[in-house]
Amino acid sequence: MSWLTNYVRPKIRALVSKSDVPDNLWTKCSNCGQMIFHRDLTAGNKVCPNCDHHMRLTAEERLKLLFDGGTYELLELAETVQDPLRFRDQQRYTERLKKARSATGLNDAIQVAVGEIGGQSAVVAAFDFRFMGGSMGVAVGEGFIAGARAAVERKAAFIAIPASGGARMQEGILSLMQMPRTVIAVEMVKDAGLPYIVILTDPTTGGVTASFAMLGDVTLAEPGAVIGFAGTRVIEETIRETLPAGFQRAEYLHEHGMVDMVVPRKALRATLCRVLDLLMVPQAPEATEEPPAETAAEPAESEAPDEVAEEASDTAPKAAPETAPETAGETTGETAPEPEDSQRAAQ
Ligand SMILES: [Zn+2]
Repeated sequence: MSWLTNYVRPKIRALVSKSDVPDNLWTKCSNCGQMIFHRDLTAGNKVCPNCDHHMRLTAEERLKLLFDGGTYELLELAETVQDPLRFRDQQRYTERLKKARSATGLNDAIQVAVGEIGGQSAVVAAFDFRFMGGSMGVAVGEGFIAGARAAVERKAAFIAIPASGGARMQEGILSLMQMPRTVIAVEMVKDAGLPYIVILTDPTTGGVTASFAMLGDVTLAEPGAVIGFAGTRVIEETIRETLPAGFQRAEYLHEHGMVDMVVPRKALRATLCRVLDLLMVPQAPEATEEPPAETAAEPAESEAPDEVAEEASDTAPKAAPETAPETAGETTGETAPEPEDSQRAAQ
């Protein structure tokens, strides 16, 4: 028996598992088709060395990339209602949840972590697209709110990183209710005088775009990320016009004032550190109440005069006054008629 289990079985296992190895060693770039060695891909944080295509990251990879030393603490998120509508399409929703959980090891599509970024206290809510397209249901909404609360409690910056097809259709109206809920959560952070930063990643669409994802004090985006409400095809069918090239890509949104900066992944952490450094009030809010605004600006200037000043003027004005009225009008006008379609497309 022991000879069988100790000697023969491992030999057979080794033979069988050999076929798995090549799959793990090489990954094909979905943009240019180049085969990339797994180690190179990991080293480059899943950016294609050939065409600079930014592949999707898991929530865990995101968090490791951004926090100081890759260390953070995950917030334990409250249990929420499972399958409140007893929804079923080709499969039961509970089945879909089960599969997504075993495939990702996550409870739902969001992970919320606390830690430090550039020495500043931060809370990050990161979406995982692998979990049912990163769709936002009750669990995701609760997670987001828990993140906002934790940020207020810790006087930390709140950073949201959506990667989501939108609302989770299996939870119907309950998933749509997460839109106003997350917006209120963002307001809580802003009322506390803390920065709320959004990093738009591929893809950010549907109800996520239409709620917390467009409310950042500073909005960063990864190159090439698809960001929009309804999908291109749905819009083209509705307005019966061909849309311009690059429509709904991060760069297009940047040109049109909806995104402050398009930041390559390799510069993302450094950029975030710089933004936090500019926006976070240095640790002396209890001593005096009025001066913090001044003290926040001064150290930034002294550290890196040219670059920081440029970035500040680049990001600050665009975010608020110019874009808000226009885009709000556009979004409601175009998208109101077919919210269901877009969600289906998103899924
Ligand atoms: Zn490529």
